[in-house]
Amino acid sequence: MNVIQKYGGTSLESIEKIRAVAKHIASIRKEGDGIVIVASAMGKTTDELIALANEVGKEVPKRELDALLATGEQKTVALLAIALQNLGVPAVSMTGFQSGFITTDHHSKARIKEINTERTEQYLKEGKVVVLTGFQGISEEGDITTLGRGGSDTTAVAIAAQMGWDCEIYTDVDAIFTTDPKINPNARKLDRITYEELMELASTGAAVMETRSVELAKKYNVKLYIGRSLEGNIRKGTYVMNDSIYIEEMPVTGISISDDCSIYSLRGLENDGVAIANLFQLLADLHINVDMISKQTYENNKCTISFSCTDEQASDLDKAIENHELLREILVEKQPNLSILSLVGVGMATATGVASKVFSILAKEGIQYYQITTSEISISVTVNRDEKIKAVIALCEAFGL
Ligand code: ASP
Ligand code: MG
Repeated sequence: MNVIQKYGGTSLESIEKIRAVAKHIASIRKEGDGIVIVASAMGKTTDELIALANEVGKEVPKRELDALLATGEQKTVALLAIALQNLGVPAVSMTGFQSGFITTDHHSKARIKEINTERTEQYLKEGKVVVLTGFQGISEEGDITTLGRGGSDTTAVAIAAQMGWDCEIYTDVDAIFTTDPKINPNARKLDRITYEELMELASTGAAVMETRSVELAKKYNVKLYIGRSLEGNIRKGTYVMNDSIYIEEMPVTGISISDDCSIYSLRGLENDGVAIANLFQLLADLHINVDMISKQTYENNKCTISFSCTDEQASDLDKAIENHELLREILVEKQPNLSILSLVGVGMATATGVASKVFSILAKEGIQYYQITTSEISISVTVNRDEKIKAVIALCEAFGL
């Protein structure tokens, strides 16, 4: 069978683990199989390299940072290829440049333009396991680029799309669960999930896979499998597929939990549009990524605008509010330390009564909630952080998760 396998940093964090991954690859490899491995940097290497760059100087040009970060993955692939060869498995490592990953020149967030798989295919024909660096590419000018944090997933999915192969993502979780098992020990493992659901879960807190890579998988119909590395032949992980082949009566598939949320309510704003535009211009200037916006209009031509942002961004905003003329006369209320619970399920697009069930469960449990947002396949509520566990457990029970 032909397959792309991606191993994350924790699966490769030490020489022992690199050896173990090599042994695993050797054990599954059969005559005639095409195996392409995509590897991340060992353990926390990328974070350490970033810290190193920041130590050297206040200004870190992104071009140089990319050149530095790319060494993390380069190290892993060479070590893995050495380990494989020592087990008698023909293997060859390649960087983003060598493996033809042509990207835009947006350093630290480059996008893949094309993949020239000629060398990869040649090595595969020679019966070699091809070990590719994740996360990096080369711009048309010939500079080293990186795809953004977590970008190795995108590398793996992109090469899978290009080759028309399946993609297996090996990581340090057993599978995708209905919710975080650390919050609800009764969380169930999901055998299958759709791309949309995984994207929604990933973007709302369950960081199993980079959202962008799942989007890419959906676009090119790449079959994904997510599981723990070295699990042997018994598949205990989760398959990601299209909803057309995924028939499930339950409206909710999973609940993601994101702890990083503050809500601001700005009362007494002029309701002329200009004040609101100015407010959001200020937020944009501060690079505050706002979520969950709502507006209430009153008869006296004033309005209240509420929005949420991360706790970290909230502290920037607090400082700006103190110093800003526009905001001085406005009553600003802040609720910090909130958690966003997002119930996600493709079944929600057609099911009715999901919101009513959520509200009645929260009411029954006496759990206060604030901002609510919905998408076609999700409903998110904000609750006080100290009530999140109670809320998650009650919601899981109600929706059979
Ligand atoms: N090593 C990179 C990072 O830590 C890319 C990846 O692991 O996906 O973000
Ligand atoms: Mg990752």
